[in-house]
Amino acid sequence: MEDIFDKIIHGEIPSYKVYDDEDVFAFLDISQATPGHTLVVPKADVKDIFAYDDELAKKILTKLPIIARAVKASNPKILGINILSNNGVAAGQSVPHSHWHIIPRYENDGLDL
Ligand code: 5GP
Repeated sequence: MEDIFDKIIHGEIPSYKVYDDEDVFAFLDISQATPGHTLVVPKADVKDIFAYDDELAKKILTKLPIIARAVKASNPKILGINILSNNGVAAGQSVPHSHWHIIPRYENDGLDL
């Protein structure tokens, strides 16, 4: 599996940027489960949650609420947000660079996660 997210972080593949700092990059998912579906990725080269150390876990957990609030504030029709991460091919992970889905929820959006 190719690490396309590393290329997105380094601007080698274009993306719609949502958030960017020294540790974390967030951008719109190319396939929007619902409008505003965002991916949050650590800039460190980390494959999945099994490879997190405490420092990285703290960084991600500090940033997820900030980015979730920004996504929610972007559209008054967003009523809630799901946050999920697939870890391992068996769990549905398709890109081998750790990432967290922020999925906005709307009235009657029909999404069945
Ligand atoms: P996973 O299935 O690994 O949990 O999630 C990978 C996500 O990456 C999918 O939702 C997929 O749509 C998204 N994705 C794959 N390739 C690209 C890309 O080139 N650009 C963007 N923005 N998202 C991508």
